[in-house]
Amino acid sequence: MTTTNALPFSLRPRCIMPLLLSGVLAGCATENAERTPASEPLPVSTSVSATPQRDVTIWPQIKSVIPADPAVERKVEQLLAGMTLEQKVAQMIQPEIRDITVADMRKYGFGSYLNGGGSFPGGNKHATVQEWIDLAEQMYQASIDASLDGSTIPTMWGTDAVHGHNNVIGATLFPHNIGLGATNNPELIEQIAKATATEVMVTGIDWVFAPTVATVRNDRWGRTYESYSEDPKIVKAYSSAIVRGLQGVGTEFLADDRVISTVKHFVGDGGTVDGDDQGDNIHDEASLFNIHAQGYVGGLTEGSQSVMASFNSWHGEKIHGNKYLLTDVLKERMGFDGFVVGDWNGHGQIAGCSNDSCPNAINAGLDMFMAPTPVWKPLLENTLKQARAGDIPMSRIDDAVTRILRVKVRAGLFEKPSPAKRLFSGKTELIGSAEHRNIARQAVRESLVLLKNKNDLLPLNPKKTFLIAGDGADNIGKQSGGWTITWQGTNNVNTDFPGGSSIYDGFKQQIEAAGGSVELNAAGEFSTKPDIAIVVFGEEPYAEGNGDIGNLEFERSDKRSLALLKRLQAQNIPVVSLFITGRPLWVNPEINASDAFVVAWLPGSEGAAVADVLLTNQYGDTQQDFLGRLSFSWPNHPDHSELNVGDDNYAPLFAYNYGLSYGSVNASHDLLLEEVQLDDDQAQQIVVFERSLRKPWQGVLKSFGPSNVPVKQKAIRSNTVVLDGVKFRTIDREVQEDAFNLSFTGEQTGNFVVNSAFREDLRGIANNEAVMMITARVNQVPTKPVWLGMNCLDDMAQCKSKIDIGADITKLPVGQWHTLSVPLSCFSELGLNLAEIFSPFSLQTQGTFNIDISHIAIGSGDANNQINCR
Ligand code: BGC
Ligand code: BGC
Repeated sequence: MTTTNALPFSLRPRCIMPLLLSGVLAGCATENAERTPASEPLPVSTSVSATPQRDVTIWPQIKSVIPADPAVERKVEQLLAGMTLEQKVAQMIQPEIRDITVADMRKYGFGSYLNGGGSFPGGNKHATVQEWIDLAEQMYQASIDASLDGSTIPTMWGTDAVHGHNNVIGATLFPHNIGLGATNNPELIEQIAKATATEVMVTGIDWVFAPTVATVRNDRWGRTYESYSEDPKIVKAYSSAIVRGLQGVGTEFLADDRVISTVKHFVGDGGTVDGDDQGDNIHDEASLFNIHAQGYVGGLTEGSQSVMASFNSWHGEKIHGNKYLLTDVLKERMGFDGFVVGDWNGHGQIAGCSNDSCPNAINAGLDMFMAPTPVWKPLLENTLKQARAGDIPMSRIDDAVTRILRVKVRAGLFEKPSPAKRLFSGKTELIGSAEHRNIARQAVRESLVLLKNKNDLLPLNPKKTFLIAGDGADNIGKQSGGWTITWQGTNNVNTDFPGGSSIYDGFKQQIEAAGGSVELNAAGEFSTKPDIAIVVFGEEPYAEGNGDIGNLEFERSDKRSLALLKRLQAQNIPVVSLFITGRPLWVNPEINASDAFVVAWLPGSEGAAVADVLLTNQYGDTQQDFLGRLSFSWPNHPDHSELNVGDDNYAPLFAYNYGLSYGSVNASHDLLLEEVQLDDDQAQQIVVFERSLRKPWQGVLKSFGPSNVPVKQKAIRSNTVVLDGVKFRTIDREVQEDAFNLSFTGEQTGNFVVNSAFREDLRGIANNEAVMMITARVNQVPTKPVWLGMNCLDDMAQCKSKIDIGADITKLPVGQWHTLSVPLSCFSELGLNLAEIFSPFSLQTQGTFNIDISHIAIGSGDANNQINCR
């Protein structure tokens, strides 16, 4: 990508002040933080080495607050002595609730199990608290039932409670970590963790996969919001606080109101090249420790009982298979005596491994495989074989199981009552309780960072006339981000958050109580001209690699929010921007088009608290000042994604720790920021499916009766959708859920359609020379014609632009990935108009057929495996 601005970075003005204002360049400087003065410079990641020197003494010997206890060790030894190899290996396998039944638990006695993001008891997003407990109880009872596996060792359930108990409807959702970093308030963080532990315990769950202690150094990473700060000091302090709050300390350690914590993802996840999710960290060992491992120092000192291995590599070697880091450093040098759990089939990414077989990971020091998807079964069988054959030494198996049992004994799992009978079980009033929501509200208030406040526009008197605009104003899903009920945080509506509030709710309540007036309109239309417009806009929810971006420009090539801000300003309405985001983004044009600009991060379910800071009380007094300070520096250019690289050319727009207060000196000046134009690469392709269906496309399954009448249809809103005739399921090709499987069962004509509510004009990217590219693997060849269609929305029989690809598909070797290309001319010859595409892809057959698809795109492409028009 190129910039049209020819000035090299170092010569560009950082801020341009309007001449009439003689203020200091406050917007370009560091505003002193009130909580921690930025006394020392942040560690800079300059040291990148080709082959890492290994020096274990770089890492500290950690003294955990939970020392080895001879009584615990004796009990573990006794348990281990009575175990068969089958029972031991079962302790090391962690399947997912979508892929095991209670009967499987009874038969195998898994050491633990998990629910992934967007995975609920019975597959029901609206599962009740009682249903969560029932599942926990049944799994527990099955695990201690020795009738089939001879084992009475209790299992444990792990969940991603990463900003509150975020998979459960009605739970308190705290701001995501990036917002908590801006509060720089470890005591508050500990309260949040304790409240989270309570809500998790209400559902009978034992263990959470938090905190994430990545120190993110590249904002392009889709998990930036899971990081507290670019500053390892904050990460370290918070890691201790979270672990204390989750697990408790002293006599409260893993007491009835606490859960086991996991510091993750070990190690270097926030420092990969280009911020690539699951990518390669190429820092030298000292930087790996000084920057990326400080959270482990904090969390392990505080006694965290588990560590999750990271998907990323260090110098090209996946951490899941890195014996040096997992065993020599973490366990031996740092003295970690809990267990290492893998990440979502992360072992399968090690060279020489697959999801269902990986002795290398265990040999490197992994103690528990996270094995979602049906692979848990072959993985269990293969691991058993490898242990019998000596490919995994028995001593390693014993060590892994010892560690798992040690944690179970320490957690009191052998004495605690069953999940349904524990202290908080079923106390639904604790889920989303007023006390917890108050903690969350405090966190929301303290996390807001004020970047601009021209003419002291803020705080606002609630007696005025307000317009609240923007698609984030009344949208609890958007303000909560990823890992919110669903994995990606998408497909949620306000009613999915009982007890929660949108940002608008808080303004409405306070403005009306004070006698002001308020109008809500996402598009910024109004019936009465307002005194002030508050516009809430920002990033759409995402999680993990789906959030990776190429540069930091906000709404690149689609400046919708900017247009809205400008439209309001053109009507002489003062504009307050509230920016919802999982990371700092380049928003100079949006800041220029706002009178005040506040970063709200991802506040979670208590959006109403935002108004406490922006509004005065009805007498005009400030209710609460801005306490938030940037825990990540703010970019001055779309390409400025790498943080603290020690390169002066990349001076941030707002330095780390910046943030205005109402009292700040010279805070009221105008800021006029440089706007650069990026030449957008001419799009060569539109991507329909890559890891997920790309906006605006959605998926639907349909099944048709004998005369092609659609009898049923279901929108694809979860990982598995089943109809008579066709089943959809997400699968893992290279990373989690980056592909899907379609299984046509022949019971009825089955159809999978990708569509959009609006017509898309594809002429800009595609002409008749273009192709549709489908990367697919055939598992079972079709028994009847397979119709591939464009714009075949209602009835395939009526649809003209469809071709039968059955014969070409049958020629492909079964079980291998191929990219097929289909000339668009096949469809246009049949009358397709590329200017009006509602559906770029559909697949239908009457027979049986099974196919996996990992990529669908339209544009220019090579003609390997070209399909003929039929
Ligand atoms: C994610 C899990 C998530 C799951 C949802 C995975 O790819 O990594 O954490 O829970 O997908 O299905
Ligand atoms: C994520 C982890 C998460 C796990 C289980 C993975 O994809 O990387 O952070 O704990 O899924 O949902």
